[in-house]
Amino acid sequence: MTGCKTCGKPLSKVNRTGWCRAHYAIANNSVQAMRQNERQWSSAEFRARHAERTAARNAAKVAWCPLEYRADYERLKRVKHYTAAQARQMIEAQIAADTALYLRTGRLPQAERLAA
Ligand SMILES: [Zn+2]
Repeated sequence: MTGCKTCGKPLSKVNRTGWCRAHYAIANNSVQAMRQNERQWSSAEFRARHAERTAARNAAKVAWCPLEYRADYERLKRVKHYTAAQARQMIEAQIAADTALYLRTGRLPQAERLAA
């Protein structure tokens, strides 16, 4: 992506709309856009498909994380405001530490955490 479709202002690499902030707002606040949104979201089938896709996408995002670490991962992101990448690094370090402890002592800290 190089520049805004309307004004040509340079856009960041992560821009997914092809518009700068001002022109994206104009493009998506039109009467037509509003009517299209109303049409789409009034359909129960569309809402069901959207919910299904969202659930699948959210499940895929945390597929790497073992179940017993999910709550910690979510807490790092939502409460501590770490990025997903930072939180993942911390959880992976925790998994390595727990594995090392298990190999040394036979204690399973992740099982104790699940029980708590
Ligand atoms: Zn623009």
